[in-house]
Amino acid sequence: MSELSTQVDEELDFDPDVLREKYREERDKRLRADGNEQYQEVVGDFSNYIDDPYIEEVVEREPLKDETDIIVIGGGFGGLITGARLREAGFERVRIIEKGGDFGGTWYWNRYPGAACDTESYIYLPLCEELGFVPKEKYTHAPEILQHSRNIGNHYDLYREAFFQTEVTGMEWLNDEVRWLVRTNRGDEMRARFVVMSNGPLNRPKLPGIAGISEYRGHTFHTSRWDYAYTGGGPEGNLDKLADKRVGIIGTGATAVQCIPHLGRGAKELFVFQRTPSSIDVRANRPTDPEWAASLKPGWQRERMENFNTLTSGGIVEEDLVQDGWTEIIRNLISMANYRGKDTDWSKVPYLMEIADFKHMNQIRDRVDSIVEDQKTAEALKPWYRQFCKRPCFHDEYLPTFNRENVHLIDTEGKGVEAITENGIVANGQEYEVDCIIFATGFEVGTEYTRRAGYDVVGQDGLKLSEKWADGMRSLHGLHVRGFPNLFVMSNSQAAFTTNFPHAMDACAKHMCYILTKCRDENISTIQPTREAEDAWVEEIISLSRYNEDFLVSCTPGYYNNEGQPNPKSIQNGAYGKGSNPYFRKMVAWREEGNMPGLEIT
Ligand code: NDP
Repeated sequence: MSELSTQVDEELDFDPDVLREKYREERDKRLRADGNEQYQEVVGDFSNYIDDPYIEEVVEREPLKDETDIIVIGGGFGGLITGARLREAGFERVRIIEKGGDFGGTWYWNRYPGAACDTESYIYLPLCEELGFVPKEKYTHAPEILQHSRNIGNHYDLYREAFFQTEVTGMEWLNDEVRWLVRTNRGDEMRARFVVMSNGPLNRPKLPGIAGISEYRGHTFHTSRWDYAYTGGGPEGNLDKLADKRVGIIGTGATAVQCIPHLGRGAKELFVFQRTPSSIDVRANRPTDPEWAASLKPGWQRERMENFNTLTSGGIVEEDLVQDGWTEIIRNLISMANYRGKDTDWSKVPYLMEIADFKHMNQIRDRVDSIVEDQKTAEALKPWYRQFCKRPCFHDEYLPTFNRENVHLIDTEGKGVEAITENGIVANGQEYEVDCIIFATGFEVGTEYTRRAGYDVVGQDGLKLSEKWADGMRSLHGLHVRGFPNLFVMSNSQAAFTTNFPHAMDACAKHMCYILTKCRDENISTIQPTREAEDAWVEEIISLSRYNEDFLVSCTPGYYNNEGQPNPKSIQNGAYGKGSNPYFRKMVAWREEGNMPGLEIT
């Protein structure tokens, strides 16, 4: 043990080795051979789980055979920000294709009661300054986010050429025409010079692959397709139709944490089936102070976004503008380690990070004890892993819900639900009869890109994207793929991963805009990465990922670590390992070179 660890350990009121061992034990209980294969894909008999419950009617229209300049697939934040930046750069013919009935993406689908964003609204909602908008609360709720998405669509006139209720089924590069041909489930054949794929990172709901799941006779749905006709109420709660119902909810991730307080209040009885508890930090939401809003100076949103992003990537700032649970861990570290940028001994940082994390998670576990009255329930609700092994949650009503007499935590000690029967759910060898099962079981993450997208892409010489990426993603900057000219991929794979997703999307949109503007102004007909540039980028991604490898392996399973099975492919599909700010700086430096290095231009 180093001198530093001995010194720090002497000052601690816990033993780091004991915690390390406990974390290992808890992780081992949850490791399973089937990893990502444990889930049931929502296809065939299960496809009704992804029907759109929010559209009033299916819009009938004739199939379209036409051409535009740029097609953007996906009308969520990624597509909207791209559309907005393209409009600002003077692009008129921009078409967004979206399978939902409106813009909003994840916020179109996730309308469950209590749905809200854990990232501060002032940095999360894109284009606030451009729209002259300040959100109502520090943590905005889903209806305001959905409305903001529509406002972006209106402000930038993106509805003009958008197609909703339309799902892309395939894409093909037409070499002779130098165009993409995009096919949809409406029989459309749309041509475009450029395509941006912004399918969303968590767009495809998944179900647990539990024996008997199709036998169940009661009512059932996934949280991302909330059935208010059955539950009554709305996104603000008041689920009055559940007053005589016994409800079972499977899953205790970020979604479940937000809807469980409403289910607890509404249902006659609620059974919460838990495999791994989430860490539940303080929320402390509050309305926006009108004086503060009026005092904001031009450039305030970008400044705040960058401040947050620097802090959550481990950087130093003069002042923490956001001051919330996300930035707290790094504040802890600063005060603990006298961590001061260039004077820091970087070799000590991982150890100090771990200690700061232990301290923080001890607070999280103490918080459970201080709120949950029943000791056995409190013990079961304590998370035993490092904070960023799973997505941290922030809520002030979730834990008190377990003090209600009608709410029962069914903890499965890491094993999960065993089976589903005609009448209910089996866990720990016992059957719980319920009128309704709600799956809060999340979204596909580690599966093939084209499976999650719902379509394959055929590039030059008949090469399919699914084949090209069969052994892992290959790209330049996460954006361009050799063999697929004029195609842009918007995702955090091989690109920037941030806590505040829209920040990375905006950086990506601006980068694409720069390239598209050059193509327009310099009459460039195609761009694609050279083989050398693509190979070098993949190499860089793999070599940088080693920084993170030990951490991922030590974590409890979840979608952050490919369900406990990080492997060369999942690592290759990961984000740029130095963090988002270095990635953003790299993109800026690349643009400043002016000649688009690494891209083959015709
Ligand atoms: P998650 O993937 O985070 O959670 C799925 C849950 O289902 C986990 O608790 C998982 O347990 C559980 N589960 C899966 N299979 C079984 C089984 N067989 N038996 C029992 N439990 C099972 O999905 P969410 O929808 O909660 O969240 C997805 C993401 O969406 C978040 O990580 C976040 O990025 C985003 N989100 C963001 C919000 C925001 O505020 N901005 C709010 C809500 C979601 P286990 O942990 O053991 O795998």
